[in-house]
Amino acid sequence: MSQPFSLPDLPFDENALAPTISAQTVGLHYGKHHAAYLNMLNTLSEGTDFADMELENVVKGSFGNTDTQKVFNNAGQAWNHILYWNQMQPGGSDEPTGRLASMIDGAFGDMDSFKDQFTTAAVGVFGSGWCWLVEEDGGLAIMGTPNAENPLAHGKHALMGVDVWEHAYYLDYQNLRADHVKAVLNNLINWDFVADRLS
Ligand code: MN
Repeated sequence: MSQPFSLPDLPFDENALAPTISAQTVGLHYGKHHAAYLNMLNTLSEGTDFADMELENVVKGSFGNTDTQKVFNNAGQAWNHILYWNQMQPGGSDEPTGRLASMIDGAFGDMDSFKDQFTTAAVGVFGSGWCWLVEEDGGLAIMGTPNAENPLAHGKHALMGVDVWEHAYYLDYQNLRADHVKAVLNNLINWDFVADRLS
């Protein structure tokens, strides 16, 4: 079987996000969950046009169609987790600066208000899903999505995203999703990476 879609290397050691996210959670999340989405995407796309497409185009091309829902679920999650790992800053994050800081202040008031609004939105995602910071109309917005959905599928540009599937936090935070999201925002986001994604 061909394997057109491959799992990128984790850009840090499994213990690099501790104590905010434990090595056990990273190991399972990357090595089992993320890997499984790529494996299933390879299986489902075998012999279809999707096998020859860039992952981003698979996400966009499979969304919103019952016949390709399973492809979308796995392509979406494959894409989501690549951004998720790449946006993380082991060893503690700095505050946003420059244009990104100005845009956060403009959209949300200040950084603390942004974190509060983002956390509220993340807690408001019913069941499994994601919470995103997106760039749209020259500004910033917060967007919650269910399951594998992401801004890309909706024609929007994601700057960063926090996974609120229980597998992302339950070992470390049990049911306390808000505490997990706040800790990720405070301790792990690489804001320079986020700023580099601005158009
Ligand atoms: Mn996940």
